[in-house]
Amino acid sequence: MYTYPFKLEKLINEISKLPGIGPKMAERTAIYIFKKGQPAADALSEALGGIKDIKFCDICGNISAAGTCAVCSDEKRDKGAICVVESPEDVITIEHTGKHSGVYHVLYGLINPLNNILPDNLKIRQLLKRSEKTENIREIILAINHTVEGDATSLYIADAVKTANPDIKITRLAKGLPTGSDIKYADEITLGQAILERKEI
Ligand SMILES: [Zn+2]
Repeated sequence: MYTYPFKLEKLINEISKLPGIGPKMAERTAIYIFKKGQPAADALSEALGGIKDIKFCDICGNISAAGTCAVCSDEKRDKGAICVVESPEDVITIEHTGKHSGVYHVLYGLINPLNNILPDNLKIRQLLKRSEKTENIREIILAINHTVEGDATSLYIADAVKTANPDIKITRLAKGLPTGSDIKYADEITLGQAILERKEI
């Protein structure tokens, strides 16, 4: 039985490990890369090699080119207001609205006991550390989707932060975003309005 050359099979196998890519799509992608030729493959390979130079910000957990990200190291950003988001994509979306002048905290997921994602699996402990009184945080803005997991995560964080430091105001994006909709896909105007009209919880 004919199979692809070993090196192509290897490429198909690696591509198929990516999220949302099934075996057929992996096969098609690998053949596409082969057909594009060596320069295209080298460019892809070089981009993949660059991953080693990308880091997690040691303050907010966002993706960064250095130990501290561009937002956290920006003197002009309001360090007293932390916008908490599920993923790095949400940071980019919120930055596009231009309505948040503070800093961020990236959780990398939401609490979901059915999938075994518990508070300790997210970067919540780091957020609580940032919420300590000595850090002078005034407000934590929960820019978290209005889903079952989003609600559970928001309530958990609100309780934990209030326990750590009752002086911090905790708000959540409420209006404007339809229930169950994803912040990543919200348009800038709607999301910007939701930031401005955030509600204290
Ligand atoms: Zn940062």
